[in-house]
Formats: sequence, structure tokens, C-alpha cells
Amino acid sequence: LIQFAGVTKRFGALTVLDDFNFEVAPGEKVTLIGPSGSGKSTVLRILMTLEPFQEGRLTLAGLSYQEPGGTGPFKASERHLREIRSHVGMVFQSFNLFPHMSVMRNVAEAPVRVLGLSRDEAQARAVDLLAMVGLADKKDHFPSQLSGGQQQRVAIARALAMRPRVLLFDEPTSALDPQLVGEVLAVIGDLAHEHDLTMLLVTHEMRFAREVSDRVCFFDKGRICEQGSPEAIFTAPSHPRTREFLASVL
Ligand code: ATP
Ligand code: MG
Repeated sequence: LIQFAGVTKRFGALTVLDDFNFEVAPGEKVTLIGPSGSGKSTVLRILMTLEPFQEGRLTLAGLSYQEPGGTGPFKASERHLREIRSHVGMVFQSFNLFPHMSVMRNVAEAPVRVLGLSRDEAQARAVDLLAMVGLADKKDHFPSQLSGGQQQRVAIARALAMRPRVLLFDEPTSALDPQLVGEVLAVIGDLAHEHDLTMLLVTHEMRFAREVSDRVCFFDKGRICEQGSPEAIFTAPSHPRTREFLASVL
């Protein structure tokens, strides 16, 4: 479903991804772990088409995208990028809800504006999703009236309202007080059972990663240094860098 082929990403003189190759199958749940600055967020941001890259090619749901700097047939038009983006939802560390909109509108707005759903359809979808994340009774609240964990669950409902094929999570619990982490992980854990949803998760919650992932990828300096089943990575990592990293976080 997702393929990075020889993607190189630089910020000025700094090469963040160097000839990066990575594939994710439909429905797969993949966790990205690794030290700060190793390029995990950059991979998610490129997938969300928030970040251009310099070389290589990204393919998502059969749509290829080659960098604006490139000249091939995959040179991306704004329309093409929008189409790619329509398959991807993202949940950030900071919840990024619209502060002036009710919970209901936060979830229902984009399906109306972007997908062209009627207000009634979008609200019905939002009601279902808010029930799924355990917030049916908060639909008329504003973000400022919710706890961080509740806001993050709204953000998850909002991403799902667009029915993406791929859902990206970038440290979704890092900004939360410890006692609120569990409720958000529980929602993400439930989603991990959705057979058709492809998930990419950056997290420092190693125990959780072990429970929900089909595959764990250890990043180091813009490359995947080692990857495998959670079992293999967490109990028998073969690369010294992986061992060193796990020793520092576990
Ligand atoms: P963390 O665990 O701290 O979130 P990460 O693995 O997500 O780290 P990235 O955010 O992908 O790392 O960043 C990779 C590198 O790219 C870092 O060295 C970072 O400083 C650099 N970088 C990221 N965004 C920019 C930017 N907009 N301009 C310049 N450099 C950037
Ligand atoms: Mg990051």
C-alpha cells in the first residue's frame, strides 16, 4: 500500500533520509522507534505530503509521487497531492483541534468540506465515531473544556471521519499526563484490530508497541537499521544500535 523507493530528504546540508526504502502492506500495523532526530516524524510528514523530498519516489494506494524537483511522469500537481493526502489521516502529539469549534464540528467539518457529505451524513458519522472513542456525551463541548486525553480521542475520531486507508500517529501520548495515556492507547489498540486499516505509529510506549504491531522498525540516522516482529526486536535484537537504544528506553 505504501512504498518509499530511494527517497532522500535533506534540510539544507542535513540529510535526514538517505536513499530510504520502506514498504507497508495493506492492513499492516507498523511501529517506528528510534532515537530523537533519526527521521521518524519526517517519514510520516512525507506520507502526509506535508514535506517535500529531493530524490526517489513515494507510492501510496497506487498513486506515485516524485519530487517537484524531479522531471519524471510522477511530478506532482496540487490535485495529485490532494488525492494522495485523501488516503492518509494523521494524529499528532499536540492535538491540533479547532478551538472555536464544538467537538461535533471538529469531527464533522472536513467530511462536509472535503468529501462533500451533507451535514446530516457527516454528523451521523461523527456521532458513531465519538461513541467509538467514548465521547458521545461530549459532542457539544469545546476543546478547552476537555482533558488532554479526551482531546486526543477527538483528534482520532476526526482523522477517522475522513475514512483514510492509512492512519499515522506521531507520539500520540507524549503530551499527555501519565494517567491519561491509557485511555488513548486503548482507543488506538481497538483500531489496531481493524483489519483494513493500515497504521504507522511512532511511539515511546514500548510495551504498547509490542502488543499492537505486526512489525517494529528501528530507525537510526535516517535508515531502518533493523526491523522485524515485536518478538524479535524486543527480545532478540541483532544490531548493537538497537540493543543500545532499547537498553536506554526500557
Ligand atoms: P524525535 O524522536 O525527536 O521526534 P524524529 O525521529 O521524529 O525525532 P525528525 O523530526 O524526523 O526526527 O527529524 C529528523 C532530523 O531533521 C532532525 O535532525 C531535525 O532536527 C531535522 N529537521 C526536522 N524538521 C526540520 C526542519 N523543518 N528544518 C530543518 N531541520 C529539520
Ligand atoms: Mg518526531
